Amino acid sequence: MSVAPLARELAAICGDGNVLTHGDQLRTYESDALLHLRVRPELVVLPDTAEEVRRVVRSCHEAGVPWVARGAGTGLSGGALPVEGGVVIVLSRLRSILEVDLPNARVVVEPGVTNLDVSRAVAPTHFFPPDPSSQTVCTIGGNVAENSGGAHCFKYGFTTNYVTGLDLVLPDGDVVTLGGKEVDRPGLDLLGAFVGSEGTLGVATRVVLRIVPVPADTRTLVAYFDEMEAAGQTVSDIVAEGIVPGAIEIMDRLSLRAAEQATAAGNPDVAAALVVELDGPAEECEARTAAVVALCERNGASGLRVARDEAERALIWRARRAAFAAMGRISPSYYVQDSVIPRTRLAEVLGRIDELAREYGFPVANVFHAGDGNLHPLVAYDAREPGQAERAEELSGRIVLACVDAGGSITGEHGVGLDKKRYMGAMFSEADLSAFQKLRCAFDPLQRANPGKVMPTPRLCGEVPGPYRQHPLEAAGLAERF
Ligand SMILES: Cc1cc2nc3c(=O)[nH]c(=O)nc-3n(C[C@H](O)[C@H](O)[C@H](O)COP(=O)(O)OP(=O)(O)OC[C@H]3O[C@@H](n4cnc5c(N)ncnc54)[C@H](O)[C@@H]3O)c2cc1C
Repeated sequence: MSVAPLARELAAICGDGNVLTHGDQLRTYESDALLHLRVRPELVVLPDTAEEVRRVVRSCHEAGVPWVARGAGTGLSGGALPVEGGVVIVLSRLRSILEVDLPNARVVVEPGVTNLDVSRAVAPTHFFPPDPSSQTVCTIGGNVAENSGGAHCFKYGFTTNYVTGLDLVLPDGDVVTLGGKEVDRPGLDLLGAFVGSEGTLGVATRVVLRIVPVPADTRTLVAYFDEMEAAGQTVSDIVAEGIVPGAIEIMDRLSLRAAEQATAAGNPDVAAALVVELDGPAEECEARTAAVVALCERNGASGLRVARDEAERALIWRARRAAFAAMGRISPSYYVQDSVIPRTRLAEVLGRIDELAREYGFPVANVFHAGDGNLHPLVAYDAREPGQAERAEELSGRIVLACVDAGGSITGEHGVGLDKKRYMGAMFSEADLSAFQKLRCAFDPLQRANPGKVMPTPRLCGEVPGPYRQHPLEAAGLAERF
């Protein structure tokens, strides 16, 4: 079907220059940050206002064309991958901070505002705790759709704990308001259903966020260990003592090496670095820092550094936050995995990952939110060598399933998207999946919003012969590989 009539209609809504149909222009939008999954969209539209978004969605609905919302495209599960024959609706131009309400600890933003800009808008008294490492670029719309996390979520919770309301354009172009500034509203919790729905229920065009006061004091330390088990044991000991750090992160030797090349943060070449950040009233911070230092020493830390000032603290975090991107320094290609395990099974699962890495002959670096048991194995390979990409993906899949076998989850924060939907059956029963599908159908009976993502098999809504079309990668058998 030609998209030319729809392109003309969308140009009338958003302006000629804001509708892209030329191959070179479309290439920018053919993947998210999971670069090996690529689909060229038919058409990309860049609305400037919420009203334009509503009219674009309505036009797609009337033309029977599927679409996907896109923020900054930093997703790591193929969530914003275009739908074959469909439209990409880019939200990054909706980037106004609409209201800062410090007395009520709320901020109202458009979906294209970046995560870090929310904290900047409410500084120096408040901040927005969910802090993905991509926070300088990724958008609040993407954070809400993925229920994104970050280093500070162990203490503060995930995005879902900070969204109190939003305006939603439904897939037929109707607009509804879910929640508001209040925390508790009567009625079904549709807001709860929307957060984490990965663009499959509609487009958020205005988001109300809760913010929290900046803690009085913050102490950040990094401890080095010659054995990963000792770093893992220290995490368990810290939690067992009843200490709830603001953040508690581990980097293994390979990720430390990569990050050191990228940032020159001064980290030594050791088996594991444990980053712990404590925040709260000054006295409490000091006492807890001393307790954490003692636990690190008891578990045989070979070195330890408590940041003396903001510059040193920033350097510790720069190395941690650079870990994904820095992999490019030591490997031509890498595959970012995101799974969860019970914290107590850390050593066992890391041992299994080592075994699998040896079996496949690919180095696997590890950097993780240790408090939440949220692993990010980074499989290093060379996409220029025939067959390596497929084997790296297969290894990655076996790591995901090893985490599920250990009682964990297929994703901690990067979402299911296209990449992980094949594993949904490993976690959920048919009845569970059908319940998800019924909810999705209530919002989007014709399945025009990001079809082919999250749900593992093509499913229609009731008797409606939905326009579900297999994703080309799914049709190529990728979805069946494991
Ligand atoms: C280097 C790097 C580090 C990262 N670190 C982290 C991390 O620490 N924690 C973490 O959780 N993630 C992390 N990510 C993943 C990614 O940044 C997050 O998933 C982020 O929330 C995606 O935001 P985005 O604006 O790029 O969304 P996109 O990638 O553009 O889209 C993601 C999903 O959201 C949907 N979507 C986007 N906007 C809307 C909207 N307005 N309404 C409805 N649906 C919408 C899309 O359809 C898609 O399904 C990292 C990524 C990179 C590249």
